[in-house]
Amino acid sequence: AAQPSKSYTVTLLPGDGIGPEVISVAKNALHLVASLEGIEFKFKEMPMGGAALDLTGVPLPEETLSAAKDSDAVLLGAIGGYKWDNNEKHLKPETGLLQLRAGLKVFANLRPATVLPQLVDASTLKKEVAEGVDLMVVRELTGGIYFGKPRGFSTNENGEEIGFNTEVYASHEIDRIARVAFETARRRHRKLCSVDKANVLEASMLWRKRVMEIALEYPDVELSHMYVDNAAMQLVRNPKQFDTIVTNNIFGDILSDEASMITGSIGMLPSASLGESGPGLFEPIHGSAPDIAGQDKANPLATVLSAAMLLKYGLGEEKAAQRIEAAVLSTLDRGYRTGDIYSAGLKLVGCKEMGEEVLKSIDGKV
Ligand code: ATP
Ligand code: MG
Repeated sequence: AAQPSKSYTVTLLPGDGIGPEVISVAKNALHLVASLEGIEFKFKEMPMGGAALDLTGVPLPEETLSAAKDSDAVLLGAIGGYKWDNNEKHLKPETGLLQLRAGLKVFANLRPATVLPQLVDASTLKKEVAEGVDLMVVRELTGGIYFGKPRGFSTNENGEEIGFNTEVYASHEIDRIARVAFETARRRHRKLCSVDKANVLEASMLWRKRVMEIALEYPDVELSHMYVDNAAMQLVRNPKQFDTIVTNNIFGDILSDEASMITGSIGMLPSASLGESGPGLFEPIHGSAPDIAGQDKANPLATVLSAAMLLKYGLGEEKAAQRIEAAVLSTLDRGYRTGDIYSAGLKLVGCKEMGEEVLKSIDGKV
């Protein structure tokens, strides 16, 4: 084989439940695609989540965070499970994930919702509406009402208990998420829809003003604006109108879950979280699925597609990413299905066998 031209360090965080099973498949896919594309991966596997809690007493050990920070990209499986749900020490596996996101300073969360032609029947929407949906939600992840101050509980002038939160965005926070969104749109179909509530909220008025300003740097991307209530409606009425959507933390939380339901295949959906510089974090949107963990039933494709996002958005290795995406489609075309996406007449396989079929597709052996 040719001498690899580029070498990347990838931290693998298998985590809990089905995490290790799906990470193992994605790792093999990355390894194979690297050998075909003349690149090299150095994998570093570290404990995280419940697995790390059991091992070290904390969900994100310092060694894990520093390994993640020192790498070119981080691929995470899933975190949590029944075992740690009533942890008396109040140390939850999920706390580790929040610490990891904060430690990597990832402020942009990218979640595609694609209705694959092979899985159009899984959609919650009518076939005519679902067919051909291919959109990406870019959600601001570290600002807005989930973090804004003041927040808390108090009493009002009548002595009644109140709870309050604050939606705050600074210009620089909007500018940087807007740039990620325009760059993302550029790598897709060059259409960006910014979702806000600028008719009511000052934070949204600033959002819209800044997005319009940043748009001047991207004359090749077509920008539109939509109020969030309308966007929620349009997503189920005619999702095909969207290419890339950019929105704030809370609206993105809601709209990205809504968009994922359009596809109806939680086992198929990847995500990426990106920062200004430094490694991005790539993970399937599904959880640790403790109900099927250790049974070789998990669908590894969400994690395999997360590895493709790692290549595309994390490392800029677009060709390698396309190879993995094409392999996923070809494996589905050849009729292989895990239980979550199975329908009659197709080939029901487990996590491992699905992984092997993806490798065959990457290799072009089928
Ligand atoms: P979270 O851990 O984020 O709270 P959750 O508990 O809401 O997630 P998941 O763990 O994602 O949900 O699982 C929800 C359901 O979907 C479960 O029944 C699980 O078996 C199924 N599921 C999730 N991911 C997969 C997958 N990769 N393959 C097959 N089934 C899956
Ligand atoms: Mg769960």
